[in-house]
Amino acid sequence: MNIAMAVRKKADCMGRRVGAVMVKENRIISTGYNGTPEGVENCTEGGCVRCKKGTAAGTGYDVCICVHAEQNALITAARFGIAVEGAVVYSTLRPCFDCTKALLQAKISTIYYLDDWNPKGDEDLIAQYKLLQARFPERVQQVQMDDPDEDWANPRRTSQPEAAESNGNDDFQSSAR
Ligand SMILES: [Zn+2]
Ligand SMILES: [Zn+2]
Repeated sequence: MNIAMAVRKKADCMGRRVGAVMVKENRIISTGYNGTPEGVENCTEGGCVRCKKGTAAGTGYDVCICVHAEQNALITAARFGIAVEGAVVYSTLRPCFDCTKALLQAKISTIYYLDDWNPKGDEDLIAQYKLLQARFPERVQQVQMDDPDEDWANPRRTSQPEAAESNGNDDFQSSAR
């Protein structure tokens, strides 16, 4: 997770900054951080209209051109022909809906995340997110550790604390620890 936090330093988005590392047999096979596609103006320089408009956190991902850290790790692996089946993902943020389905379909076995993320709104969609995360063969589990860059990485969270929403994670974890 320390390496995912180091990778995160390169993230460029007006929203959260996220880093992800993909590991197989104790070797790093790919990394990713979130930001606009290569060659496109950075998000913090106005490159992403969705982020620039201050769209509510957790919404409008379909029109956000910032590629998420987990997606970038997958895409980089694809680009260089690295098999990811059975790999473990360390992400500084719990994968969103989109990243969850991509990682599941790529046959990632385990996800360890630092900061929690939960979909908001429709109860049925939230339930589906939980079901999807429960499908990973090993587990989806939060890692407890100090994060000196927490406020920088989660800028919106400082204005609206979500600490109370971090409960209930046990639903997603397999019994094996
Ligand atoms: Zn952005
Ligand atoms: Zn995502």
